[in-house]
Amino acid sequence: MSNLLWPENKPAALSLSFDDARFSQLDNGVPLLAALGVRATFYVSPPTMEQRADEWRIVAQTHEIGNHTLTHPCSGNFLWSRPRALEDYTLEKMAGELTDANDVILKLTGVEAQTFAYPCGQTFVGRGEDTRSYVPLVAKHFLAGRGYLSEAPNDPTFCDLAKLNAAGFDLASFDTLKPALENTLNSGGWLILVGHDVSDELPRQAVRSATIEAVCRFAQENNIWIDTVENVARHIAQNR
Ligand SMILES: [Zn+2]
Repeated sequence: MSNLLWPENKPAALSLSFDDARFSQLDNGVPLLAALGVRATFYVSPPTMEQRADEWRIVAQTHEIGNHTLTHPCSGNFLWSRPRALEDYTLEKMAGELTDANDVILKLTGVEAQTFAYPCGQTFVGRGEDTRSYVPLVAKHFLAGRGYLSEAPNDPTFCDLAKLNAAGFDLASFDTLKPALENTLNSGGWLILVGHDVSDELPRQAVRSATIEAVCRFAQENNIWIDTVENVARHIAQNR
């Protein structure tokens, strides 16, 4: 059991996060989270966010809006990212991505983004001997940086806030997530879940509403602290 006390002696922490400002997050995710009384973190992609800026401004009053870069650069092994491949990036160019996205978020929602999510969970720029980590850049600009497709929950006494583990929950059933939730509960850890669309129909990269409901029910029944990445990270930063 971790010796970092969560608020109100809660046994563990859970954050739900959703990436890319997909429309189904506004259409399905936000109403569901309101019904469940849960605050989440939305790592927005500015070009998509701009299309429904008025709604995101309202979302920002309840939920956390985080930085996910301006143009979502990932490895060029993804063909869609080849024109902005991390292998061709420099730290200077990445610094521009971070500050430009912060500027758009501030302009559209009035919020200064406090945390970051690495697109595709990838933390490098360049290639071969010239590869550099951009974790230090994230550490400089943000309270926390969230990864993707990691295995273990975060140990609040040890984790690097600039490089947090996070597990995907697109298409997952509650049963497949239950071992990770129980591990988090038993270790006093912090589990961060990552989804994209919120839909019961889309065939890929979509979290099912029944899964969100069941995860939140499990957390509430076990007194797990559910809050935004920002709020949990701030608690850790101030208490360890
Ligand atoms: Zn993304």
